[in-house]
Amino acid sequence: MQRGRRKGFKVSEETRRKMSKAKKGIVISEKHKKRLSEFHTGKKLSEETKRKLSELNKGNKNPNWGGKYHTKEWRRKVREAMIKHWDTIGRKLRRPKHDSYKYNDWRTAVFTRDNWTCQTCRVRGGYLQAHHIKSFSNYPELRLELDNGVALCRECHILANREQRKVEKLIFGKRSYNKLAAGKRK
Ligand SMILES: [Zn+2]
Repeated sequence: MQRGRRKGFKVSEETRRKMSKAKKGIVISEKHKKRLSEFHTGKKLSEETKRKLSELNKGNKNPNWGGKYHTKEWRRKVREAMIKHWDTIGRKLRRPKHDSYKYNDWRTAVFTRDNWTCQTCRVRGGYLQAHHIKSFSNYPELRLELDNGVALCRECHILANREQRKVEKLIFGKRSYNKLAAGKRK
């Protein structure tokens, strides 16, 4: 089975129809049924449960199930949802600002002030990243404040972000992260 399609590859209506037709034809093999039943050995299934199970598996009614892997349709849905999610949390918002000259200046200023040293583990000259003490998404007005930046190595940065998210979840609530990032700040 082919896993995933190439990026940018568009499926015609014709192919889409064929795909859904093929999907409907998938029937779970005898071998697989046996394995499924072996999985339940020790447990005696009632006739009612057996009937329900077989009903469930007939004709690939379970949308998550495409034989061995997820169905193409399901994978497409997941991929689209991921892209949509990424757009809302700020692909459009972050890229231009992070790439801008101002941002680079801020980063360099932070590194210079901190003597190119990770401020947590004190390793010098590693792969440094500029961490926003108050997050980039929740505090847009502090994005280019020198005092809001700290030089961290990659490992310490990951830990710092984890802690930061915990704290800001308490301040802004669970769902606010996405909302604020999408520019709906109060
Ligand atoms: Zn470090």
